[in-house]
Amino acid sequence: MTLAAERDVASNHAGATFSRYSPVDGSVVATYPNQGLDETRAAIATARTAFDKSGWATSAAKDRAKVLQTASNLMLERVDDFATWIAKEAGKPMKAARSEVVHSAHVIAHYAALASDMRGEAITQQVPDAIGLVVNEPIGAVGIITPWNFPLSLVARKVAPALAAGCTLVAKPSHFTPKVTLMLRDLLIESGMPAEVFSVVTSDIDNGALVGQEIAGSTQLDMVAFTGSTEAGKAVARAATSNVKRVALELGGKSPNIIFADAELDDALRGAYTGIYLNSGQVCQAGTRLLVQRSVKDEFVERLIDMSKKIRMGDPLDPQTEMGPLVNEKQFARVQGYVERGISEAKLVYRGETPKDGGMERGHFVAPTIFDEVDSRATIAQEEIFGPVLSVLTFDTTEEAIRLANETMYGLAAAVWTTNINTAFEVTKAIRAGTVWVNAYHATSLNNMPYGGYGQSGLGRELGQHGLHEYLETKSIQIQLPRKRR
Ligand code: NAD
Repeated sequence: MTLAAERDVASNHAGATFSRYSPVDGSVVATYPNQGLDETRAAIATARTAFDKSGWATSAAKDRAKVLQTASNLMLERVDDFATWIAKEAGKPMKAARSEVVHSAHVIAHYAALASDMRGEAITQQVPDAIGLVVNEPIGAVGIITPWNFPLSLVARKVAPALAAGCTLVAKPSHFTPKVTLMLRDLLIESGMPAEVFSVVTSDIDNGALVGQEIAGSTQLDMVAFTGSTEAGKAVARAATSNVKRVALELGGKSPNIIFADAELDDALRGAYTGIYLNSGQVCQAGTRLLVQRSVKDEFVERLIDMSKKIRMGDPLDPQTEMGPLVNEKQFARVQGYVERGISEAKLVYRGETPKDGGMERGHFVAPTIFDEVDSRATIAQEEIFGPVLSVLTFDTTEEAIRLANETMYGLAAAVWTTNINTAFEVTKAIRAGTVWVNAYHATSLNNMPYGGYGQSGLGRELGQHGLHEYLETKSIQIQLPRKRR
């Protein structure tokens, strides 16, 4: 089918709907408009006009801050409403879903604070008759394309700085998890944001890439911020050349989690455990490559297997559940494929049991799986699996650990566990990744630190001041005194 023909098909979907089915038992969870190119172009036009004419871009930053702060407060009052939808659509256990909502509310509040404190620079004294001002302006109308694994926080990290900066938006959430993006928009409108400032396009799996490409390629938008797979991110970057729009990309990962023999091993075990099993391994920064120093490797793997045996898998809405299903059939089949591949490439040392009752036998559950003696060049050590499947590699020296850690096309995150400051310093310095934890994994207590990837893990940074600057243009203004006044 040609692209033009595909576009006609997509347009014909206008007025249709699609359903999200439960990853737990296949029942219908929600139904949404299946929007195609016509609706996407209309939403883009709305964002363009709102930026050029509505006054949002030129509004006082303190007024935008007020909207964001109100939205953050309301979100904290409604944590369970948001979390329940994350659990239903993404299959995330309620405890983790709640913490995603709280994190999102904090991110929004942080950008309220930064909006209240927007400032530029002054260049003075270089010559007597001129002064330079470096001012920030909103980059313009922005397209946002997001995945399903952190359906609220990945949207909040884009929407909040964009609104703080004075941008207008069109968002395309994943077809698996549209609800919380729609809820966030409603919350912002309730908090005082004009409706035309932020539109959402919902589309089914077939329309997803077409709508995403329309946003990425639109000459009416000034920027596209994308989180998703590296493959789709490259397609977004290619389409964005249409008008040389700014591109922010948060892509895949294959992160090393390095355990030295001198580490506090109890802490390191917790780090290895949450590193791989959080959100059933569906985390871009998951610690999927566990590098363990030879002298403690066997003991470490044995203890990790013991911990893995105790994981309670089940319905994400059940408060006892620690690990839910994978998000969908495709992801389920993909991860099973990697497990089969791993069996031919390495030594399978643990594979748990999945739930077998209450309709959950139909769910997309994949049990915790551990491979030992994995070669760094093996498929399971190189490709992003996005499931609870761990590859264990062994090292002897610090140099070898660093070499193995960097042996990847990705560079999103890494961790090093050691009680030796010199080892920690040497490894953090040598690792090519956007985030490196020492004696921690998935740590978010300092969650306004910039986040993003080296290599094929992305372009640009989210969170904090760095995240705000992605949505700002920089203008240099030179003011000269007239000759006769000098
Ligand atoms: P995906 O790339 O399939 O889809 C992401 C979004 O892009 C969806 O909304 C989808 O409809 C849209 N899309 C798909 N193809 C497109 C195309 N050709 N052009 C434009 N848009 C397109 O990813 P996913 O399966 O939803 O999410 C999992 C991936 O996201 C993993 O690779 C994971 O590592 C990555 N991820 C990265 C981060 C990060 O911060 N670096 C965070 C979360 C997830």
